[in-house]
Amino acid sequence: MGITSSFDLIVVGGGPIGLSTAAEAVARGQRTLVLERHGFFNENNGTSGAERHWRLQYTQEDLFQLTLAARPLWQRLESLAERRLIHSIGSLWFGDVDVDTNEGKISETARVMDKLDVRYEWLRAKEIERRYGFEALPGHFEGFFQPDGGTIDVRGTLAALYGLAQAGGCALHGDERVIELLPGSSGVTVRTDRGTYHGDKVVLANGGSINELLGPLGARLDIKLYEMALVSLRRRDETADFPFWFVFQQPTEEDTNLFYGFGRNPWSPSELVRLGPVFEVHPLSGAAQVTGRPDPRHVERLGSWVGRHLPALDPEPVHTSTCLAVLPGDPERQFHLGSAAGLVPHGENLLLYSSGWGFKFVPLLGRVLVDLAVDGHTEYDISRLSPATPQEADQ
Ligand SMILES: Cc1cc2nc3c(=O)[nH]c(=O)nc-3n(C[C@H](O)[C@H](O)[C@H](O)COP(=O)(O)OP(=O)(O)OC[C@H]3O[C@@H](n4cnc5c(N)ncnc54)[C@H](O)[C@@H]3O)c2cc1C
Repeated sequence: MGITSSFDLIVVGGGPIGLSTAAEAVARGQRTLVLERHGFFNENNGTSGAERHWRLQYTQEDLFQLTLAARPLWQRLESLAERRLIHSIGSLWFGDVDVDTNEGKISETARVMDKLDVRYEWLRAKEIERRYGFEALPGHFEGFFQPDGGTIDVRGTLAALYGLAQAGGCALHGDERVIELLPGSSGVTVRTDRGTYHGDKVVLANGGSINELLGPLGARLDIKLYEMALVSLRRRDETADFPFWFVFQQPTEEDTNLFYGFGRNPWSPSELVRLGPVFEVHPLSGAAQVTGRPDPRHVERLGSWVGRHLPALDPEPVHTSTCLAVLPGDPERQFHLGSAAGLVPHGENLLLYSSGWGFKFVPLLGRVLVDLAVDGHTEYDISRLSPATPQEADQ
């Protein structure tokens, strides 16, 4: 099939990172196409559920600097979209302060907050129970409350980005799957199940499926996929409310023993709140393996923790679903972000993003990817995040 149209930039994947890239690209005058294999706003991949945790704190200082850099970009997006997207209900991290997790480590993160002069309150177990309604916490649990953290309106963000991309003249093709990429010296030929396009540059923002397109080019990113449970529970008491909370515990033999929950959703309050386990067990071999049904044992483990420690919630789930977590093999790095130069032939025309807890960085990631595509460099420090294969990660 001959090439049907040519673009300055083609974005593969219409999730939040793809749409953010598209919105930024059209704002900079780039003729842009987004190709999404499902409908836009689908919840089959890494972006299901209504909310995400917004936090400043990171154990790694460079990632912390990136959340600080993301904050004004969120404010700009809110102003362009004329809607509030981040709600500062606060972020509470507590538990075993020295346990190392994919989320980070409490003690080390507090040290970085001190260094960067970011405000927080240090709390002991009894104070956490008194303020937030937890009970029977182990006496050695401690942690912090960071008041600027909170929750991000996921669907509001997607609607805002889609609207900005569309208003800027971006071509947005839903139900069109990219099946092959052919990078060359003058750009990339993109073959889909409906046509063939030329992009001077191509951004791969297709989440957990990125290796399906890189594999045939001879590269594979060091990522792992997990289908994680999302659980809605009923508040027993209408006045009960929480900041976003995350409990850090020593792993069990069975799982990573980590749980989190949101407070009342400020933009659509209801009697339900959402919680989840963060269990990195049983990785999937590919995104196609997602079932949409959570592991009953994971839901039971969450209910049992809530039954012991959160009396304000009824531990019987009202609703359950899943979300595809795409995590880096090396938790220190969080993301694969940068050009594919050196990974695949003519990789300089291919920009990549995949993995990590990326929602809080959505406007920043869009900006970085367009910086790299248009200018070949970015002002943000992403030096530690350049795409790595499993072999490179081992070195
Ligand atoms: C349980 C859970 C909790 C999380 N909590 C947080 C949090 O609190 N804070 C935070 O910052 N982040 C969090 N995250 C991470 C965050 O949700 C993701 O980083 C983000 O939503 C991923 O967006 P994306 O655009 O990269 O990927 P996706 O939303 O997966 O989008 C990729 C898109 O690419 C499309 N696609 C795939 N292959 C092709 C193809 N061949 N052709 C065309 N289209 C294709 C897919 O259909 C999909 O729509 C969480 C993730 C999970 C799973």
